[in-house]
Amino acid sequence: MPSPTQAEAVALTEGGSDNQVPPLVDYDVSAADPALHAALDAAGSPLTPRLCALAVDAGSGEFIETAQLANTNPPVLCTHDRAGNRMDQVDFHPAWHSLMERAVGAGLQAAPWSPESGPHAHLHRATGFYLWTQTESGHLCPISMSYAAIPALRRNPRLAGQFEPGLRARHYDFGLRPPATKHGLLAGMSMTEKQGGSDLRAGTTQAVPDSPGQEQFRLTGHKWFTSAPMNDVFLTLAQAPGGLTCFLLPRVLPDGTRNGISLVRLKDKLGNRSNASAEIEYQNAIGWRIGDEGRGVPTILEMVTMTRLDCVLGSAGQMRAALSQATFYASRRYAFGRPLAEHPAMTAVLADLAVESWAATVTAIRLAALVDQSLAGDRAARALLRIALPVSKFWICKRAVPMIAEALECLGGNGYVETYPMARLLRESPLNGIWEGSGTVTALDALRALGRSPESRDALLAELRTAQGVSAIFDQALVNLTKLLDQVEPAGARRLASLAARTLAASMLIRQAPPEVAELYCTTRLGEVGDRVFGELPEQHSAQLGRILEAVTPT
Ligand SMILES: Cc1cc2nc3c(=O)[nH]c(=O)nc-3n(C[C@H](O)[C@H](O)[C@H](O)COP(=O)(O)OP(=O)(O)OC[C@H]3O[C@@H](n4cnc5c(N)ncnc54)[C@H](O)[C@@H]3O)c2cc1C
Repeated sequence: MPSPTQAEAVALTEGGSDNQVPPLVDYDVSAADPALHAALDAAGSPLTPRLCALAVDAGSGEFIETAQLANTNPPVLCTHDRAGNRMDQVDFHPAWHSLMERAVGAGLQAAPWSPESGPHAHLHRATGFYLWTQTESGHLCPISMSYAAIPALRRNPRLAGQFEPGLRARHYDFGLRPPATKHGLLAGMSMTEKQGGSDLRAGTTQAVPDSPGQEQFRLTGHKWFTSAPMNDVFLTLAQAPGGLTCFLLPRVLPDGTRNGISLVRLKDKLGNRSNASAEIEYQNAIGWRIGDEGRGVPTILEMVTMTRLDCVLGSAGQMRAALSQATFYASRRYAFGRPLAEHPAMTAVLADLAVESWAATVTAIRLAALVDQSLAGDRAARALLRIALPVSKFWICKRAVPMIAEALECLGGNGYVETYPMARLLRESPLNGIWEGSGTVTALDALRALGRSPESRDALLAELRTAQGVSAIFDQALVNLTKLLDQVEPAGARRLASLAARTLAASMLIRQAPPEVAELYCTTRLGEVGDRVFGELPEQHSAQLGRILEAVTPT
């Protein structure tokens, strides 16, 4: 490597004598996020003071260290006490509890389901989820499951009356005790068996009624994945005499005895290390029926919309966190006489990452706003959500992986080292793509939505047409998509989901983002550019890239 010139040597020292970049701490994660603010303005509800405080905590040195501790001190399974009695509990580092306490206190679990909630309750909660993901993702698994459990639980009003207030309470109350004695509850999902997670009908766990016609059953079987096994109640599926049925199982029974649930082992996972994911066994475990016997899958689908929304929010939040790290680092690290971010080839990479994150954020926030509208009875919003959510889940959760990998590379060798947050972000990134419908399954679900609900097709096209007439590339993509929607067949599921998601994101950028962001997205994500990597941008956009970068770089 050539030795630096005098001017370069002077510039190099501007990066500090050792040119190492200070950590990105004590920053407001919402401050350099114009995509979030524009999306919230479009939804008619800017950041509330409570969310502003959460955004400050999310970037605080204290919580960044807490997140690191929760991941370097993973949960430990304790099956038996010293006398050989079964305990079936998981011990967590105090850092995990701090994260949980802040998330529950912010109402990121089931709080928006309160009857007193305002018209933007789910949007506010979703925004909080997106902001708080930027601190740590693992603990948001039990938070998300508790949020999503409510619509399914409401299929049994008696159980909803009993457990919903605890699930909605903004009080984190850890420990295996009878739910009625606790100040706050958390719920989990226990669906996946060895035989299949996508094909839930393949499950073999048996449910036998205590007496005919009663809603109390005894469950026996094995579940291959059950995350957050210290949660208080679990939604599960089992084969009852009338077919696959949904049940609610408490970890601790009302009389204080432990339910018949054994924790076999914890999974050794790629990422998501702060969170515990267990293999468990039911041995005559007591469960209460939710919904009709034989209607387990439709009942459980009530929660899928909510968990898929969280997958999109989670991936968008992870992308935004990676973008903040990459832009901050590249604006302070010097090479060959100037900051990395000012080298044109690097500017292109960073601006391209910014555009990907921008699109994910505006889409995620729009989907959250649609949840409020559809719960308020807006049929068009419901129809749009039915198609927009699976295609966006498919696309955004998938894009998070290469996007975060590229952001990691912006930090060079430091990005690969565990003392920086990039390695953890990258390990976490594939998970949202697997959960709640792996890629292909989600794409197939989008096809199902189109087949069963012609109004979803119409709602999607109506949404997209509001952005027509600005970009010739977008207009052509809309023509292509309209044709594809009429040729629905399973082998083309990914092609359809991908194009629908990109066109939807582009429509929102055209309406909400600066023209240079929308143009860049349309050219590179909808134009005929073929296979490409981040930073491969057409020349005509070069002059605008600095402006995009400036808007998204934390200071
Ligand atoms: C960290 C972690 C935590 C988890 N926590 C929980 C939990 O708390 N509760 C729980 O119930 N589960 C949990 N899971 C399990 C998760 O939900 C499943 O792994 C997921 O649903 C996929 O199921 P599977 O693993 O059986 O894969 P499979 O169903 O075998 O799918 C494998 C692949 O085949 C594809 N595929 C499946 N069907 C089709 C089809 N018809 N056509 C084309 N392609 C298809 C899928 O897209 C996927 O890529 C967890 C998983 C992980 C990794």
